Amino acid sequence: MWGPLWANSSFIYEDTIGTLLEMFNGTKAVPEQIFKRFFNTKTLMHHTELFNNASDDVCDLFNKLVNKDNTVLKSYKVGSGARVVGNYTTRVITVGESILFGNYIEASVKEFKRCFIHHTLYTTEMYAANFKRNNSCVALKNGEHGSIKSILLCKLNCGCLSACKCEEVYLHIFRFKKDSRQLRIYDDFAKVNTAKQIVKFRKTHEILLCKPNDILCKCFCYVHDESIILIKMPVLENV
Ligand SMILES: [Zn+2]
Repeated sequence: MWGPLWANSSFIYEDTIGTLLEMFNGTKAVPEQIFKRFFNTKTLMHHTELFNNASDDVCDLFNKLVNKDNTVLKSYKVGSGARVVGNYTTRVITVGESILFGNYIEASVKEFKRCFIHHTLYTTEMYAANFKRNNSCVALKNGEHGSIKSILLCKLNCGCLSACKCEEVYLHIFRFKKDSRQLRIYDDFAKVNTAKQIVKFRKTHEILLCKPNDILCKCFCYVHDESIILIKMPVLENV
């Protein structure tokens, strides 16, 4: 119903089955062993933010304790319900961006490829294309739609006297324009247009600037004949 399997990111959960299999030894009291190890690991994971500035040795030890060979993703929680994930590049904002932002932020920004907003993973269009994921199209609360061009962690021009953590995540979004010819599949029996949830768009080069809280939900995206067809994903949790 929500499109092809690869378009959704549920495989990361299935991957956990493998991890659970490694959480016990022998055959005695298996559920108890898994329970204990799971919660011990969880307690450790809660402290990951302490490792933001830790040395590589400390990070490696932590990785060994919680994840064996896998490197724990760097992630960083920012004020308004967003968590940026993975590596970033530092760059100076462009002239076009500085017009959008005004004097509100400092010129140097950190550009990420991935972030979590309200427990949902979003990625930039480029990242999504490289990994065949469908995580970059969004519906905004103001009725606009688009795809994420960049995820920026910006230091605010706050005027605090000492070093502070006044920062915010901003998203640049390629605005989609609604197509004038929409799909219509009329069901005579139910007397409804069953294609009402499927909306056709065209990509524009217009950029929208938004904050994580402006995002309503992720959209499943399918490109057909230069048309972008979007279906809103259900919002399961909005904490
Ligand atoms: Zn400040």
